[in-house]
Amino acid sequence: MKKIVFVTMGIIAMALTSCKEKAEQPWIVDRFDDVKIIRYEVPEFENQSLNDKILIYYLAEAAKCGRDIMFDQNFKYNLTIRRALEKIYTSYDGNKECPQFVAMEKYLKKMWLANGIHHHYSNDKFKPEFSREWFSEQWDKYGVESQVEKDVILEAIFNENLYATRLNQAKGQDVIATSAGNYYEGLTQAEVEKFYNAMIKKAGNDPCPISYGLNSKLVKKEGKIYEQTYKVGGMYSPALEQVVYWLEKAQEVAEEPLKTTIGLLIKYYKSGDLRDFDAFNVSWVKDTSSNVDFVNGFTEVYGDPLGYKASWESVVNFRDKKACERTQIISDNAQWFEDHSPINPAYRKKEVKGVSAKVITVAMLGGDCYPTTPIGINLPNADWIRKDHGSKSVTIDNITYAYKQAAQGSGFSEEFVLREEDRARMKEHGKLSDDLHTDLHECLGHGSGQLAPGTTGTELGVYSSALEETRADLFALYYLGDKKMIEIGLIPSLDVAKAQYASYIMNGAMTQFSRIELGKDVEQAHMRNRKLISEWAIDLGKEEKVIEWVVKDGKRYIVVNDFDKLRDIFGKQLCEIQRIKSEGDFEAGKALIEKYAVKIDPELHKEVRERYYALNIEPYGGFVNPEYELVKEGDKIVDVKVSYPANFVEQNLHYSDKYSFLPSIN
Ligand code: ZN
Repeated sequence: MKKIVFVTMGIIAMALTSCKEKAEQPWIVDRFDDVKIIRYEVPEFENQSLNDKILIYYLAEAAKCGRDIMFDQNFKYNLTIRRALEKIYTSYDGNKECPQFVAMEKYLKKMWLANGIHHHYSNDKFKPEFSREWFSEQWDKYGVESQVEKDVILEAIFNENLYATRLNQAKGQDVIATSAGNYYEGLTQAEVEKFYNAMIKKAGNDPCPISYGLNSKLVKKEGKIYEQTYKVGGMYSPALEQVVYWLEKAQEVAEEPLKTTIGLLIKYYKSGDLRDFDAFNVSWVKDTSSNVDFVNGFTEVYGDPLGYKASWESVVNFRDKKACERTQIISDNAQWFEDHSPINPAYRKKEVKGVSAKVITVAMLGGDCYPTTPIGINLPNADWIRKDHGSKSVTIDNITYAYKQAAQGSGFSEEFVLREEDRARMKEHGKLSDDLHTDLHECLGHGSGQLAPGTTGTELGVYSSALEETRADLFALYYLGDKKMIEIGLIPSLDVAKAQYASYIMNGAMTQFSRIELGKDVEQAHMRNRKLISEWAIDLGKEEKVIEWVVKDGKRYIVVNDFDKLRDIFGKQLCEIQRIKSEGDFEAGKALIEKYAVKIDPELHKEVRERYYALNIEPYGGFVNPEYELVKEGDKIVDVKVSYPANFVEQNLHYSDKYSFLPSIN
């Protein structure tokens, strides 16, 4: 619910890399199946204070210690299967080019990526491409030790119908009994709902309602239903003890208010009491001053079809000072932007407050955030805490950057961008222009403008979110091309705006359709908004050919001929969208959306998908973590060194060796 996994098409598209030019892609360290593994760097780590470096080191150790928990939460036999495969993989002394071995290696890599034997995105169980007989032989040959009968594990891997999905959300089915996730055992959906509804009812009208069930497995044994709580001394204790060990070290070196926050988390891990978890979250969300920050705990509930149970995850990070300065500058100039907005002056806000977004650099990913990770985080999840104490929203800059770097050489821009000058500008300014577009959209766009007297803000109904995103995007696009941006030091030249304008229009009117199945309409609000702006702009500039479709060698391209006039068009669009919002003009909003944002030209749709899929771009990305090493003089820590390993297999074998604390069956 609160994790931002949404990536703009620009980034996704650029983030994907084809099989061509493999050798020249230093950011991609591995490829298998539908995945590429990217490394990320931690810029400015060297320039953090020694104390913060040590703090990051301890929190990073804590982040790695919970890895087994995620495997076990995803499926009860995941740890057994992972260990069996790793044992065979590392002991194997036969021909490593044998197709059976190669297929098993691929399966193991997929398992490391998904923290289990189900696909991280589709939730479907992997289909092994090695045989049951071969695997069984290797199991015996290399003496795999297991708490579970070999045949049970063979069935789990090879019987297609067994544990077919990790997470079944189909309406009308018992989503608990049909999901292979390990949050419940021996229960039906009705029993689970009854159990938690009774708890919620008993609590009555609590102004600070507990997130019941968040940190436990619910089990039915011999007719009795009870929770096995994840805590020190409870379920997952061996891993949580290690997490707590490193958190205690971190607490020793942390300064206030972080010190108190870490202390509250330790208290919660020891008690398992969700009131303690809330106390930790309140303390965490109030701390907006500490340089180092972290997520560590049972946090997101996407893996439970009923949304009670949270998966364990961790992210360790520190403030990206440069990027935070950028959003501060924007925020400081908020009133100037509002006063000059190309809209009816009556709809400008008299007093506007900019929001400065926090941009972070990730230093370590763990649990549910490793190896696949979000590019933004918005926590905590408890609604009452969000309402009473606010939430923290961060964007993860170094991960976005790594995606971009990994996209170089994908062939995407060669395929879809006609002019060399546009490609060059996108390459040089793409990152900055995307960042600023996001900053302007988030820090100013949504907060700008005001309603006319009598308008309530609910008039636009089902069209409201697409129109609201349109408004924020137009605000960003319009101001990205303003000389004010140079004056306040945010861009070196208006080439940054040109890069954004060309890629935005291309994405909105064309390349984003690659993500939509043939015959389907555009539904998602952000995708609608980009299509609306782009196709409406083409229409508005038609006579003067501001934007033009060009056909070359049978392929369609879209080209911006006049960037200044395009900016004027963005201004006119913003004026009209603001009028629609301020006046609550439902009919006008509906007309624009229905005309420009929903239906895709079927011919173009087909062409875009064919060209896109011909690039063989892997749709999913995972990461390898950096590694940290303490530098000591005697007993004294004098520095922490960061390095960037480039081997996904080695990193995972290392984690399984050094950070594996749970028994195979929990
Ligand atoms: Zn938005």
